[in-house]
Amino acid sequence: MSEQEYFCPHCGTKMNKWQAPLDSDWCGEIKFVCFSDECPYYQRGWAFMEEKYGPKVSYRHSINPQSGHEAPLLVASADHMRPGIID
Ligand SMILES: [Zn+2]
Repeated sequence: MSEQEYFCPHCGTKMNKWQAPLDSDWCGEIKFVCFSDECPYYQRGWAFMEEKYGPKVSYRHSINPQSGHEAPLLVASADHMRPGIID
């Protein structure tokens, strides 16, 4: 069975298969995440989140391939969460 590919709806980048840290809220859940630093969704996130919440955070587009549920993945820096990439 060939694995399905996902492309970011915001920038068209092929999304990376990614496993959430075991000690996070998602407890090892597999997701596909857009890790492009050029992604407009991620770039807009910095200003948006700073206005709303203060601290320096942004988010990347992610989708759960099991449920099809799309959700923002919060990141505190460009490298944050990258160690979870598994493809
Ligand atoms: Zn993107």
